[in-house]
Amino acid sequence: MEIYTNWLQTNLLAIVAVLLTLILSYHYLMERDTGVKLSKKYRNSIFEAQSKIFLNATQYLISGNRDLAIREFLNAVDLNRETIDTYFALGGLFRSNGEIDKAISIHRSLIARDNISEATRLKSLKELAFDFDKGGFIDKAIETYRDVLKINRDQQDVLYAICRIYEDIEDWDQAYNYRMMLSKISSNNQSETIAHILVQKAKALFEKGDMVRCWEELEEAFKFAPSVSANILWLRLSLANGDMEKAQELLMELINANPMYISFVFVALSEPFSADEKVKNDYNTRLTLLKSFFVKLKDKELTPSPAITLAKVRLLKEENKINEAYQTLNGLVSKGKQLSEVLMVEYIRLLVQLNKTEEALKRTGDFLLNLNKSLTRHFCSQCGYNSDEIFWRCPQCHEWETIQFRWKV
Ligand SMILES: [Zn+2]
Repeated sequence: MEIYTNWLQTNLLAIVAVLLTLILSYHYLMERDTGVKLSKKYRNSIFEAQSKIFLNATQYLISGNRDLAIREFLNAVDLNRETIDTYFALGGLFRSNGEIDKAISIHRSLIARDNISEATRLKSLKELAFDFDKGGFIDKAIETYRDVLKINRDQQDVLYAICRIYEDIEDWDQAYNYRMMLSKISSNNQSETIAHILVQKAKALFEKGDMVRCWEELEEAFKFAPSVSANILWLRLSLANGDMEKAQELLMELINANPMYISFVFVALSEPFSADEKVKNDYNTRLTLLKSFFVKLKDKELTPSPAITLAKVRLLKEENKINEAYQTLNGLVSKGKQLSEVLMVEYIRLLVQLNKTEEALKRTGDFLLNLNKSLTRHFCSQCGYNSDEIFWRCPQCHEWETIQFRWKV
């Protein structure tokens, strides 16, 4: 793939040259067959001029002077006003080749022409906006996309592009406005994305301590679609408002839906926000209460999952309840349960902390033995394919000689 891209880059102008020659020759032939407007002498002189330009351009190409070659090509296109599509093709090729300034100058020169149709002008403007976008000129891209939409609102690709930019720069108000516009003309359902954007808006309000408006935006988000992040924010609002019952209910709903969520629920709940010291203190007190509610939950009340066990052990350690954390894991070990690698690391750490040296040594030995087994001798540097065998062509990504040696533990 990489070789192909490099080849394309070095030979792009040569390809363009061939394409242009074909297009212009075609036009010449068509005109020769059907043309009645131009005299034969005039047409022949155009063809001669074009041939000369291509000869020059090809020479510039061979001598490696790409800028002069491009200028010759542009001159050639100028000679034939029928070939606006060639301009677009050339501009598009420059853009995809990363030569943004050249793409921009082509599309600008098109817009500046007075003898083009409105449709062509709109298309040129759109292409120019894509150039700015690809080149990372965000402000100019937004401005130009907006100009396009002023002329014609029914532009899905433009709306998608402007939505993507506003989501990238986290301008959630504008992201929402344009996503709503898109939802009116797109056949794809935008509800989930709109809900995510509204949750982001609500989150920003929560961080500023504006709980009332946060709640309004969140309610709006739920009208479009439910999501994990919306439920976590609802939980945060319940803690801020002192509704412990709702907080516990939401926590249970989240971990029953997927036990893995627990691994980021408490992290998200602990994220900082600005508010009065009193509000923050109350919030943190209630968060601590919610944590101990979770830790005290009986195994029967929960879906068994390593994520739940890990969350419990980490919360207990946070509160310095080392012995209880140890009991949680030891309970599993004595029942003959196989601990996951992360849990085993936590278990060994606890054993060390509790001075259970002999047990710690034994567990560490077993752990390292298993770790050793789980690592292969070789891997592919391209795609990460693992094998103990030697492979000169990776069976997974088909690249040659990407094999790397792994130092075993
Ligand atoms: Zn590979």
